[in-house]
This record gives sequence, C-alpha cells and structure tokens, in this order.
Amino acid sequence: MDYTGCRLFRIAAPGKSVDFLFPVYYYAQKHGSAMILEVKEILQVLDRFIGHYPIYFYLVDSRNTIAWFNQYMGQNLPEMRLGQPLECFKGFSPCPEPCAECLPAEKKFTHAKVEKNLLKARVGPAGTERYIEFFNLPILQPDGQVEGVLRLGIDVTEDEKLQEALRETEKLFKAIVDTSADAVIFLDNEDRILSWNKGAEEIFGYSAGEIIGKSIQMLVPKEVLDFGELDYLHEVLSAKGMVKKFETRRLHKNGRTVYVDISCSRVYDENGNLIGTSEILKDIEDRKHLEFELLRTIHELSKLNQLNEIIHRVYDEQDILRIILIAITAGEGLRFNRSFIIWVDKKEQMLTGHLAIGPANPEEAKRIWGELHLNRGFLKDIVQAYKIDLEGADRGVNEIVQRVRVPLRRRDHILIHALHQKQAVQVKDRQILGSKFPALTFDIDDTNLFDILASDTMVIAPVYSKKEPLGVIIADNSISRREISIEDVESLKLFANQASSAIENARLYHALEERISDLQNAYRQLAENQEKLVRAEKLAAIGEMSAKIAHEIRNPLVSIGGFARLIEKKIAEPEKTRKYAEIIKDQVDNLENILNNILSAANPPKPQKRAVAINHVIEQVVEMLGTALQQRNIEFSAELQETSLPIFGDERLLHQAFLNVFKNAIEALDGRLEGAMIRVTTRPCPEYVEVQISDNGPGIETGLISKIFQAFFTTKSRGTGLGLAVVQQIVESHSGRIEVKSQPNEGTTFYIRLPFATEAAAETVEK
Ligand code: ADP
Ligand code: MG
Repeated sequence: MDYTGCRLFRIAAPGKSVDFLFPVYYYAQKHGSAMILEVKEILQVLDRFIGHYPIYFYLVDSRNTIAWFNQYMGQNLPEMRLGQPLECFKGFSPCPEPCAECLPAEKKFTHAKVEKNLLKARVGPAGTERYIEFFNLPILQPDGQVEGVLRLGIDVTEDEKLQEALRETEKLFKAIVDTSADAVIFLDNEDRILSWNKGAEEIFGYSAGEIIGKSIQMLVPKEVLDFGELDYLHEVLSAKGMVKKFETRRLHKNGRTVYVDISCSRVYDENGNLIGTSEILKDIEDRKHLEFELLRTIHELSKLNQLNEIIHRVYDEQDILRIILIAITAGEGLRFNRSFIIWVDKKEQMLTGHLAIGPANPEEAKRIWGELHLNRGFLKDIVQAYKIDLEGADRGVNEIVQRVRVPLRRRDHILIHALHQKQAVQVKDRQILGSKFPALTFDIDDTNLFDILASDTMVIAPVYSKKEPLGVIIADNSISRREISIEDVESLKLFANQASSAIENARLYHALEERISDLQNAYRQLAENQEKLVRAEKLAAIGEMSAKIAHEIRNPLVSIGGFARLIEKKIAEPEKTRKYAEIIKDQVDNLENILNNILSAANPPKPQKRAVAINHVIEQVVEMLGTALQQRNIEFSAELQETSLPIFGDERLLHQAFLNVFKNAIEALDGRLEGAMIRVTTRPCPEYVEVQISDNGPGIETGLISKIFQAFFTTKSRGTGLGLAVVQQIVESHSGRIEVKSQPNEGTTFYIRLPFATEAAAETVEK
C-alpha cells in the first residue's frame, strides 16, 4: 500500500467529538471523497476484530450512497449492495432494483449533529421484525463540512418490547386512575399534592388546577388535624409502609365534611429513595349514612325495649306515669325537653293536667340536665334515682300542667280529638302538620294550650286501654329548640302504646289482686263460721243432755262427798275404812271435775274477775293433787318465780284450767313404772306471766297436736275430750294464750301465758 501522508478527521460521538489522526493513502476513486475511503479502510480493519458482534455498522458518503457495511449487516440484509442509494434502503427494506426515485442525488449532507433514531425493520434470513437503534455519527472535515455518516445500529427489540408493554400498562393504569370513582392522588415528601384524578375532583370539588401543589392539609377538617391524624398516618406509613382502609373525614371545597376510607402507601424510586405517597380515598358517605341509620334504629329499639322491660314490671299507676315522663325526657330515652301527662278524670268528665317533668326555663334546664347527666347510667337507674320533684326541680312544669283542663265533651279540641281518635298529632308553630285533620281548637278557658305551655311546637300522643281512653302525653323541645323529627314522633307513638298496655296491665293486675283478696277473706270467714257452727251444734246437743244429767247427779254427789268427809274424820280406825273413804273423796273430786268441764263446755261461764296471784292458784292445785302424785310415784318439782303484778282473773276458773292440764300430765305418766316427772314453772315477762307444765310421758303424735284442743277429742278409753277445750276457753277468756310442744317418747310441755292486770283493771278491782 502506498501511504502518502496522514490525515486528521473527526468522529463525533454523543456529547463530544474526537479527532483522529490516521495515516491514509490516496488512490483515485471515481466516487466518494478521499476521507471516506480512509474511514472505509479503518472500518475494514476494525471489522476484522469486532465483526462477530451483533452490531449493524455502515457508512454513507456525502452523496448518500452506501460506502461500506460490516459483515453482520451483510449476513442479515443480503439485499444490501455497496453504492446503493440510501433512499433505496429505507427502513432496511431495500428495493429489489435501484429505482428512479432513489437514484443518488447530487445533494450534500448537512446533518452535522449526532443523532439517535429507532428503526423497525425486517432483518435476518427469516425476515423477522426487529427494532434497531441507530446512532448517526457524522464524519466531519476539520472545517466542519459533512463528509458522510457512520451509522451504528444495535438490536433493541427485547428492550423495546418491554418498553412497549410498560407503555401499555401505563396507559391502562392511567385509564383506571382517570375513570376511577375514588380519589387517587399522589403526594410528595412534603405532603403536597402532585396528582389529582377525576374521582378526587368529584369527591372533594376541587379541580386539578386548583389543588395541585397545595398541601393535603387543605382537605383535613380542623378538629381531625388537631387530633393529630396526619402524624398518626405518617407513623403507620413509616412502620408498615402502608395504611389500609382507614376511615375518617375530609373536607369538601364547599366546607362540608365527607366520610372517606383511605388506603395509602409509600412510593420509592428505582434507587430506593422515598419520593412520596400514593393515596386512594374512597367516598363512604352513603355507607356511613346507612350505618348511622342502622345504629340509630338499633339504639331506638333497644331503648324502647328497655322502657318496655321497666314499665311492665311496675304495677303502680302513678309510678308508671312517672317512668313514662322520665323515659320521654331522660338522656337515654326519647330526649324530649319536657313532657306532660294530661289524664282523664272520669268523675269530673275532664281531661286534666296531672304530672309533668322538665325544666321551666333554660336556667333550670342546665341544672336538671346536669343532675341527670351526673347520675347518667342506664334508664332503669335514672328511673330509680329520679323522683319527680313537686317541690323543687319540676315544680314549675307541674304548676303549668295543672292549668290544662278540657271538658271531655269538647270534641273539637285538639287534646280531646287526639284522645278519642287514638291519633298522635304533631304541631309546628301552632299549625297541625298533615292535612287529614278537621278544624280543631287549642283554646283552654280564656287562653290556649300554647300560651299555657309557653310552646308552639309539640307532639301530642294518646294513651288508651282496650276499654277506654286514659289520657294524652305532650312532649316538646321548648328549651333546646331542637327540631322534632319524624323519628321522634314515631318513637313517642310507639312508647305511648307501650305505656297504654303497661297501664292496662297494672289495672288488670290490681283488679285481680282485689278479687283474690276478696275471695281469700270470704273463704276464711266461711271456714270460721263452719267451725263455729260445728262447735255450737255439738255443744248445744251435749249441753242440753249434760246439763240435765249434771243437775241430777250433782246433789247426790255433794252429799256423798259430805258423808265421805265425815267418815274420814270420825273413823281413824281401822286403817282400811280410812282408805276407802279417801278413794270416795278422790272419785267425787274427779266426778266434780268432769261435771265442771261438761258444764263449762256446754255453757262457758262468764269469768268473775279480780286480782289473782297465779302462784297461789298453782300451789292449791298441786296440793289437791298431792296424794295422786305420791300414789303414782311421780317426782314433782315446782319453780314459781315471784310476780310483782297480779293477774286479773277468775280464780275458780283458773284453778279448773290448771287442774285439767295437771291431770292430763298425770294421766300421761300412767303407764310409766319409774322416773316419771312433772315440772311446773312460772316466769314473769314484761307484760304477762308464763306458766310451763311439762311431763316426760309418751308425748303427742305430731299429726294429733292440732286436734287436742277440740271438744270431744280424746285418745283415752275413758276420756271426755273436754279438758283442753275448757282450758283453751278459760285462757282465752283471760286474754291469754296456750301453746303446746311435744316430742313423742320424750314428753309434753304446755305454755300458758296470762297477761298481767293493767292499772285501770287493777283499780276497778280495788273499788
Ligand atoms: P281427755 O283428757 O279427756 O282425753 P283432754 O282434752 O284433756 O281430753 O285431752 C285431749 C287429748 O290430748 C288426750 O286424750 C291426750 O291424747 C292428749 N293429751 C293431753 N295432754 C297430754 C299430755 N300431757 N301428754 C300426752 N297427751 C296429752
Ligand atoms: Mg283431760
């Protein structure tokens, strides 16, 4: 090769251009400049080293024809020819033959800049479509004139496909964000809004233009901001990287708050630097509204249920009315400010103000509601704690309600109408709401309902039982002026119905109670009368007979007794005769006692009362029974405590009573061979003296105890069954009581209590 010198030329690379000094040789060439030839030579050499790289590499001279291409290009584009005009090679799809259109033109290149462009072409033997990115590197003469272009192409099909997919996804995302009904926004690290979609515009009212660049705080209500919600969200974001469905409130452009749920997450760039936060805010206004509605309904129902439970457990009508009033006004109840009960007065044929609750004026309201608030608990606690105070807190309203009086016959009066039609009426600014009402009046005497209650807006609800109208409830909000809603009216109506049924229940309950007590009384009286009748009949029958017999045998008995005593005295000897006489005397005493009992039972004698020392009577009885006790080997003990007061009674009858009890004790010990005991005690108590007479005989069977005081009841073959009946009769005629305690096989104790003489009685005795 013939080297004729060096030549400086320049290849421009992106961003800078490099000058090369190459040894070049000249030889004549028809086309192309010497410089292009030089470059060609170099490329030729280069291609030997990098020819196996998948790089497209070709050279275009200043006439726009292909001056050189590398091996790789030749393999992949077999149609390519040297000297072919570039135009003919458009888009890597060369024309089969050089055509007129693309014949080399005599125009010079002017592209002095480095450029990059992307070509889509069919390449390779199979002619598959590929993306090739080309760098155009102009070859410049030192004076800057363009000599040609070196083009370097790299297959970027895979990258390009990825990019395309990415662009598609981006488009998709954009479409989703654009059409989303939710607000999708992006915040930078200073919480400034960077993007704002249509959804956001709809939910918050701001256009993108109005809000982009502004702080997110613009959308947060002040109290939420003060509460520190944004800090909290930042904390959660830092800790977890995301927040899911956080329910809160945000501000609309018009100042209204909107319920939203927020989901947000942090966004990082490819190097892991935090670039901001994406936020999706969903409008949950409708759902919240439903939720509130549901909650309100549940609350209302549970409230009514609570009221129902309380009210149906009370049977006092006044208490029910009081509970009604509290329930209508108290915190957990229907929350009216004031409530009045106007009740039917059947006797006067009037609807009359009866009871009221609530503050008379705003000052009182503060105090009363403060109190109720303090003791706030469940309604049942309030009901229990709060008594309607007719002297203090509720006096004002109760004075007011007394002034409401409307005759029942005034059917054109609003209250009477509500009562008779069983219809609740809502009044607003003195006008009845709803059109189905006839012309009604509000007049009461020379004034009217509104002026009396000092209220123009109220609800009137009737209370009635199945049988008859009972009254009306009036409720208002005259203190707080809170509007009465449809729900309030409905709740009051429901509640008034419950109150009606509670009152009806209470009335039925009382009627039933009265009937039961009447029946019980009637039954008791019947039983008493029957008992009296039976006793009277028995006594009458026996009385007649026994009186006759008694009279018949009394006289002979008396003389037998007298003679027996004579014998006893006169004949000390022989011993046997004295014993017989003793027996005659005992038997006569016995007979006399029997007779006395028969006579007393048949015809109870009226006690001849005077002061009696009870211990003395007992001592006499014991003395009389001394022989009998000795004969039967009965151990007898007495503990008679002194009583400072006497008994006011009939000594003879008391003697008879104690004698009967002692006799029973002796008889009870009859079968006992040893260890038989009788014990008597007297014990003074403040108002009476108690005499206890016990024996350790066989006792009384539990089932028989209730019968032993009945006349003619006896378990003995030779008993009369009159002893205890007479004892009871005598004790009761002395205002005393007799009781018995007995344990089978252990013994029996009789307790006889006799009241001491009162001073007045004692005095009558002394005179
Ligand atoms: P009578 O003695 O004629 O049977 P009472 O009226 O005196 O009639 O007594 C009625 C019954 O009470 C007696 O039959 C007896 O069953 C029982 N009774 C009374 N006192 C005693 C006693 N101390 N121990 C056991 N039973 C007694
Ligand atoms: Mg007896």
